[in-house]
Order: sequence, then structure tokens, then C-alpha cells
Amino acid sequence: MTQCHIAAMKATHPVFCTIVPPHVLDKLAQADDPDLAGPARRTLEADAAQRTHRRLTTVLGAPAAAVPEGAAAGKPHRTLYDAQHGQRLPGVKVRGEGDEPGRDATVNRAYAGLGATFELLLKGFERDSIDGNGLPLVASVHYGENYGNAFWDGRQMVLGDGDEIFRDFTIPVDVIAHELAHGLTQYTANFTYFGQPGALNESVSDVFGSLVKQYVNDETADRADWLIGAGLLTERVTGVALRSMKAPGTAYDDDVLGKDPQPAKMEDYVRTGRDNGGVHINSGIPNHAFYLLATDLGGRAWERAGQIWYDTLTGGSLEVDASFTDFARATVAAARARFGEGEEHEALLKAWSLVGVPTG
Ligand SMILES: [Zn+2]
Repeated sequence: MTQCHIAAMKATHPVFCTIVPPHVLDKLAQADDPDLAGPARRTLEADAAQRTHRRLTTVLGAPAAAVPEGAAAGKPHRTLYDAQHGQRLPGVKVRGEGDEPGRDATVNRAYAGLGATFELLLKGFERDSIDGNGLPLVASVHYGENYGNAFWDGRQMVLGDGDEIFRDFTIPVDVIAHELAHGLTQYTANFTYFGQPGALNESVSDVFGSLVKQYVNDETADRADWLIGAGLLTERVTGVALRSMKAPGTAYDDDVLGKDPQPAKMEDYVRTGRDNGGVHINSGIPNHAFYLLATDLGGRAWERAGQIWYDTLTGGSLEVDASFTDFARATVAAARARFGEGEEHEALLKAWSLVGVPTG
């Protein structure tokens, strides 16, 4: 039994969530080219070490960051650290809330990404930070040597500089928002990180990741690219992003990375013991349902489709081991409660039906 499985069974504990799934890193680690395999192996080793560390700190009850004394509600409290290419967290503090931008573009991008996520939660959903109670947002950049991943460890986010395959993980704002959204899920529905609830956990992060990017760019649903991690892959990779919500399974098709394994429909659901039961794979199904809903409704996706997902996540009706069907039914109830049985309700039933998830 892997540590992921153990973590997944302890549903009340936060889980270690990386943006690049293990099946991609496994492929890279087996590449003939040592320039590709070496960094991927080191990233896998660093991830394994972090999983162990996170489990230990969970067991030992390490405290979450506290809201500073006298801090104003409805304002972000960001702190950026530089891990200086080491693996000790958080590292050296390099920027606090309200500090002027420095010379390090990575720090500045991370600071802006935390701010954008905070702002969408506040302005879009009237939520004060990811816990709804002003939780300080902490991120460490320049983590490890050629670390090709980013993760949320239950308390903070960590971003690598990338390697031959991945660029700096602060470049796509949706990657930062994806990781912070794992915090949002942790404080709300807290989906178990395995199988269908795990894929819902991943999908919610992709949905809010994409919404933050659309919010930053002020894009309507029809203009958005619906990609996760666009701009992250280097020119060595044949691909456009890590995942596509518009067309799951088409984000990359590469000699080294292999082909994007995401299904868009239940009939193509992938049964696997890897990747915590395919959490980064089967998330394509609820991802695509959200895309279908948002583009059918049109306009700004966070205003109606996003609101339905947010209400579902925070509504308290779902068990931590919710299935896709449980989630779909809860979205229908949430849509009815907020918008009545109008076009939102109809579009939602159509979206779930198109991906093959029953709501009746
Ligand atoms: Zn994730």
C-alpha cells in the first residue's frame, strides 16, 4: 500500500497534491535521454520525501498559518519564501503583504497569482481566503534543483523552477490557483484523494484554476482556452498544456510524455490503481461537464457555472467519498436553490447527460 493510499483513507487530513501527475513523471523517468530522466527521477524522489514529511507533520499536528493580529478582513495576507533550491520549507522570506515588487520575476508572479485567487474568491463568491476566514496565503518558490512540479502540502504551496520539460511553475496563473483550490476543497467538501472523490478533488482544482485565469484575463467562456497549464511545457514537448477541459485527452501527444490519458465521458472511465485511482485522469469527465455548462450559459463562467460549483462544494450535503453521480446531483440541487428551474438547470442536466453521468 502506498502512502497516497494511506493518506486517501484518512479523509480528514489534507493530502499532498501535485500539478504534474505521477504517471507523467514515471514516463519521463524512463526516458533514454538522461537530461529528461534525471530531473524527473529527482522530482519523484522529492515528491516522495514531501509525502512522508507531510504525513509526519500531520501526525505531529503542525499548526496552520495564523491570521496576523489586527489584520483586516477581506484583504489578502500573502507571504513569499525562497527555498533557494533546497527542499526545506518554507525557506527565506522574500516578500510580505504590501511589499513592493522585487527583482525576482518568479516571486512577483507567485505573489500576483495568490492575489488573483484571493480576489476571485472574495469578489466572485464573497469568500475571505480559502478557509473563508482570512487564512494567510503562503508560497515557496525556487524549490529544489530542477524540480518539475508544484504542490499544495495542506498548509502552503510550493513551486519548482522546472526542467527540460516544464518551465517555471509560476508562469501559468491557473497552476497557482489549482494548488490553492486544493486548500479550498480541504476546507469545504474535503473529497478523499482516491478514485472518484479524488478525481472530483482534482477537477474542482482545475475548474477554479481555469476560472482564476479567466477572471484575470476578463474572458468570457467562449473566449477562454479551457487549458490547464498552458505555457508550462517547453518546446521539447509536443503539446499545449497539462490538461484540456474543452477536449480532455488532447493536451499533449509526445514521444516522451506519451498521450494525454484523460477521458471526457463515463464510457471511457479509466480503471487504474495508479495515480491514486486515476485522480488526474478521470477528472476529465467532471471537467468537461463544467466546460459544457459554462459555454452553454455563456458570459463570465464564474458568475453562474462557477457559482453552482462553489455552492455545491460549500453546501455541506456531500460526503467526503462522493461519487461523480453524488456530485452531479448536488450541483442540480445547488442550481435549483440559487437560480430556480431556469436555463441554468436545463444546461446543467444537458452537460451531465453529455458526459454520461446520471442526475436522475
Ligand atoms: Zn491537483
